[in-house]
Amino acid sequence: MALGEQKAEKNEQALIRMEDVSKRFGVLTALSNISIDVREGEFLTLLGPSGSGKSTTLMCLAGFETPTQGRILFRGEDFTHLSPEKRGFGVVFQGYALFPHMTVAENVSYPLIIRKVAKAEREEKVRAMLSTVGLGGYEDRRIQSLSGGQQQRVALARALVFGPKLLLLDEPFSALDRRLRGEMQSELKRIHKQLGTAFVFVTHDQDEALSLSDRIAVFNKGCVEQVATPSAIYEEPASTFVAGFIGDTNLIDVTRVAAADGCDLYHAHYGDTEIICRGPQGAASARLGRLSVRPEDVELHSSAPEGGGTNAIKVRLLRAVYFGGSVEALLGDPADNHFRVRLATTRARHTGLVEGRDYWLSWPKGTGYLVPA
Ligand code: ADP
Ligand code: MG
Repeated sequence: MALGEQKAEKNEQALIRMEDVSKRFGVLTALSNISIDVREGEFLTLLGPSGSGKSTTLMCLAGFETPTQGRILFRGEDFTHLSPEKRGFGVVFQGYALFPHMTVAENVSYPLIIRKVAKAEREEKVRAMLSTVGLGGYEDRRIQSLSGGQQQRVALARALVFGPKLLLLDEPFSALDRRLRGEMQSELKRIHKQLGTAFVFVTHDQDEALSLSDRIAVFNKGCVEQVATPSAIYEEPASTFVAGFIGDTNLIDVTRVAAADGCDLYHAHYGDTEIICRGPQGAASARLGRLSVRPEDVELHSSAPEGGGTNAIKVRLLRAVYFGGSVEALLGDPADNHFRVRLATTRARHTGLVEGRDYWLSWPKGTGYLVPA
């Protein structure tokens, strides 16, 4: 009884736990000491540049690859060496193609046939799942007659129809055009909410990761640099890599970091400029990192900003690039450090941008974040 209770407690902690997993292919280390939890019901995204180990992680979860070192636990049980079929996970991988000669219903019922589900129940489940993915009434259509987005919906239905304990998706929308991609993203989010199944989703697209996920694991060169909510990843990046990979940022070398009295803020300096910023606990005594300031947080002034020089730097406009709704300004200071500022186009018109002219940039106190070294 006590053992059962202990187990129930474990279940709440994590659906899946990857413990210190490494994967080598010959001399190449694809994953080094990865530890990630997948929580019950969550939408977890593995985000990182190409070659950073996202797909290898997913393959280890699916059982198509075996870690060279480390363990993978499912609800507390070691299943590192369990075959893919016995895991009971749904997969939507690139190149995990549909059967082109079969109808939609035949494709979707395939996992049920393998699991020897009776015909009547099978038909009911296929109908319900097709309706969930927005393809109600498409049962008898041929795969070739469907659009790319519809085919992705069939792949999703096939991966979900048997009620998997986890759905694994590897860049499922990368072949779709921008508009369709956005449509499928909101569909996936809706389906996730409706089913309550945990999803592990791989992408190299930061916007996709930020907009879809409950949590994001950021990969870099086979290591996980941070696992956190989208807002924590964006607003409190754990490394300069995370700060630069998720969104644009200005990384500023600051000195003399000290905790500000009576609040969570820090004082720092950039040259003679006093900076008031946020940072992780212990940032004052930690090895010096850099200050990350997002381009959309920075304001541009044609004269020295009121209220003194805190968080304000004198710069020269090097270049301004028009993006329709916004303008991106590249600026340089006398020490030849560069800064990027994103201004709403109306704001940029008001300020008046002239290349070669001097400006001041500033950002609100407490906006920048000290990123650990
Ligand atoms: P991502 O999905 O983030 O783009 P991968 O996990 O596919 O990255 O790859 C991580 C690294 O492992 C890459 O250097 C890749 O070339 C290598 N790799 C992946 N699969 C294999 C394999 N089967 N054999 C040899 N090297 C591989
Ligand atoms: Mg990949």
